[in-house]
Amino acid sequence: MASHLVGSFQLMKSLNRSLILNIIRSTGGISRAEIAKKTKLTPPTVTNIASELLNDGLVVEGQQGPSSGGRKPIILRINSRNFFVAGIDVGVSKIRFALTDLEAQIVLQNTIPIDDSMTEEDFVQIIIREILRLVETAAIPKDKLIGIGIGMHGIVNSSKGVALFAPNLNLKNIPLKERLEEELLVPVRVENDARAMALGESWFGNGVGAEDLICINVGYGIGAGILMNNELFRGRHGLAGEIGHTVADLNGTKCTCGNYGCLQTVAGHDGLKRAAMREISFGRKTLITDLINGDENKISGELLHKAALQGDELAIEIFRDAGRYIGTAVTNLIHIMNPSKIIIGGGISKAGPFLLDPIREVVKQRALDEEAKETVIVQSGLGDEAALIGAATLVLAEMFAVQYQNQKEIL
Ligand SMILES: [Zn+2]
Repeated sequence: MASHLVGSFQLMKSLNRSLILNIIRSTGGISRAEIAKKTKLTPPTVTNIASELLNDGLVVEGQQGPSSGGRKPIILRINSRNFFVAGIDVGVSKIRFALTDLEAQIVLQNTIPIDDSMTEEDFVQIIIREILRLVETAAIPKDKLIGIGIGMHGIVNSSKGVALFAPNLNLKNIPLKERLEEELLVPVRVENDARAMALGESWFGNGVGAEDLICINVGYGIGAGILMNNELFRGRHGLAGEIGHTVADLNGTKCTCGNYGCLQTVAGHDGLKRAAMREISFGRKTLITDLINGDENKISGELLHKAALQGDELAIEIFRDAGRYIGTAVTNLIHIMNPSKIIIGGGISKAGPFLLDPIREVVKQRALDEEAKETVIVQSGLGDEAALIGAATLVLAEMFAVQYQNQKEIL
């Protein structure tokens, strides 16, 4: 194992280092004296650790901020562009790759189309090739890449880093962590995509400050990432949050999972498309017909949103129906997990109020008590990049999170 690579990650993980690093990160810049005050560490301890962090290139000094006359205090900031993390979002039809800095800002990204003819081995090779290419294109030394996070649709064993089942790609039991660490010599973290998204939102998006958070990814599939007491909730074998495969219509259409009437068959991408095509085949007048120009494959969340924005009744109705189904699932989730906040992300969530308003209405109507009815429901703060940033956050959260100290081996 390339110990210097593991080392760059490891060196951030002693108890007080992480504590201080995270305070520097979350404040955006802070003086040594303020750190000592906030952490209750002694000033000499803070000075020592700050020197180490400066030497390691993790923080930099600057002069800024309020000064009450006299000398301006020296501020410590994260040296965010000195180390990088790779985030990978494995979707149904494409894999997205990004290089982010230590503040989850995307430096470079790339997208590779895939289809279900891809084998498990092809999949591993694509990831290796693209990560190497990304590092090369960004012209960063390889030892500046401190970790890789992968958000993967389907069922994942995150502790072993194995993609157990990706139904839409028909891939099974890929030991991603083992294979990629062997080839690329950096720590690899693998998580279900909705869970990675929830973590990303809680660190860098609209979930900052919410300890009990559920993030729902609405795209081709529908999945929920559940964060309780700031910890991801995975269930016994990683199935928790698979709300897309909870039943919404007992007599419904067949789902990719083999069951009938799953939530994603009525409120996921294909459900929306089916609803539009059904109405068009009944002769309904709609702008969608003009927009697709005879090609039903053009029906997408984005196209429906475009029609809805122009006042198309059918498009608005399709989002409203999907929103009601999702709203019912959200109400169920509120009654099961009682989160303080729900974040709606994924491609279809870009329809904004067309989808979110009906979700909120259902929750207002059906949640059990006043507080539950008032559960905050917002759109993703990270938008199109939520899954990518979420994947990178799998590594970043571990690096900055104090609670991980001495509890987890890195490799
Ligand atoms: Zn299903």
